[in-house]
Amino acid sequence: MLPQPTIVMKFGGTSVADAERIKRAARRIVAQREAGHRVVAVLSARGHTTDELIRAAEEVSPHPDPREMDMLLSTGERISCALCAMAINDLGHRAISLTGSQAGIVTDTSHTKARILDVRAERIVEALEQDKIVLVAGFQGVSTSRDVTTLGRGGSDTTAVALAAAVGAEVCEIYTDVSGVFSADPRIVPDARKLPLVSFEEMLEMAASGAKVLQLRSVEYARTHGVRIHCRSSFEDGPGTYVIGEDETMEHPLITAVTHSTEEARITVVGVPDRPGAAAEIFEALAEANVNVDTIVQNEPRTAGLEAEVSFTCGSDDLRTAETTLAPVIERFGGAKLETDPEVGKVSIIGAGMRSHPGVAAKVFRVLAGEEINIELINTSPIKITCLIRAESVPRAVNALHTAFGLSASDVKREGALGEEAR
Ligand code: ADP
Ligand code: ASP
Ligand code: MG
Repeated sequence: MLPQPTIVMKFGGTSVADAERIKRAARRIVAQREAGHRVVAVLSARGHTTDELIRAAEEVSPHPDPREMDMLLSTGERISCALCAMAINDLGHRAISLTGSQAGIVTDTSHTKARILDVRAERIVEALEQDKIVLVAGFQGVSTSRDVTTLGRGGSDTTAVALAAAVGAEVCEIYTDVSGVFSADPRIVPDARKLPLVSFEEMLEMAASGAKVLQLRSVEYARTHGVRIHCRSSFEDGPGTYVIGEDETMEHPLITAVTHSTEEARITVVGVPDRPGAAAEIFEALAEANVNVDTIVQNEPRTAGLEAEVSFTCGSDDLRTAETTLAPVIERFGGAKLETDPEVGKVSIIGAGMRSHPGVAAKVFRVLAGEEINIELINTSPIKITCLIRAESVPRAVNALHTAFGLSASDVKREGALGEEAR
């Protein structure tokens, strides 16, 4: 007999927030088992547990030691898994919960944002062969130096995708508190449209520009390892969003989504010497400290030999690390100084169709101008345009762009109806 197909089911924090929801997740897991699948389930920490643990650490230490931080943060997802295993056992199935380390997830040593290097899934496979449902604590692994690590905020998505690749799962289901990937964050744009399909390329840009429904690394991992992601609601049935290869999608809309982030900071290094190697010094130091840098802008001095200005953005949670990392570099530059601005946000539009359409950027700038929103930096890729703006203007910018590009559920329905009439 052929082995049963395996699926990975990941439940996010809201989906396991209380006892009732853990029992609901347990019932969904059991339903998939009873439908003939082998099931590996990855759970996040309950509700706001991770935020609370971070706060607890900051209450006892202004700069918590990263290794100890990981010991602390990894506990949240363990609690969820143990509780869910109990609930599954009560439903008459056998479940076993595993930490990331027990599940064989090996990472590098970058505490609080480690990368998965290898998944040694023997223990999971063994348990599946014994007809058990396997629950794996998301967001964590064990480093090559045998310390507990965590994978960065939203990291349970990456755990799920990595396990799906390792056990050859036919699909990696991401159960969350919205019914899929939308044309904008439905919390900001109530009329946003659920996207039945989204390409890896677009999803990568969306995740990188703030759509936290999938962690960026999970999408990268899925693309590299050919994992099929199905992002869906944990509270209702019905299909969500499939993330698929661009060659598999039929439609290439001009614009697919508007994304945003208010958790950005802008750093400007003023007085950078105008010589080869200065930018390399800044960004090598940041890379060494594991700071993810986004938009970079350098103004060339009008007169050769004078000093330049380099601006870039990073996540607000990296701001302090960036400042301490750059202090010695600034010192070496002599006379340079650092200006920081934590109140910035970014708004982006994403769409594979924009590759071949001029005029999209102009329209974005005109729409923002119409809202009296000043653009501070601009960053583009072939399928994305990002504008850095004041954080407080972000919701207004997202809504204005979403409307201007006709992305609302009601707009799309209207277009469909017109098409019918034309026929
Ligand atoms: P989980 O705890 O299940 O991992 P997250 O909070 O990490 O859930 O991600 C889901 C949230 O992502 C949604 O509640 C939604 O507010 C937000 N989000 C942002 N952009 C989008 C988008 N384009 N489509 C869907 N959700 C989005
Ligand atoms: N619990 C972690 C977080 O809140 C990981 C996750 O939920 O994916 O970021
Ligand atoms: Mg998440």
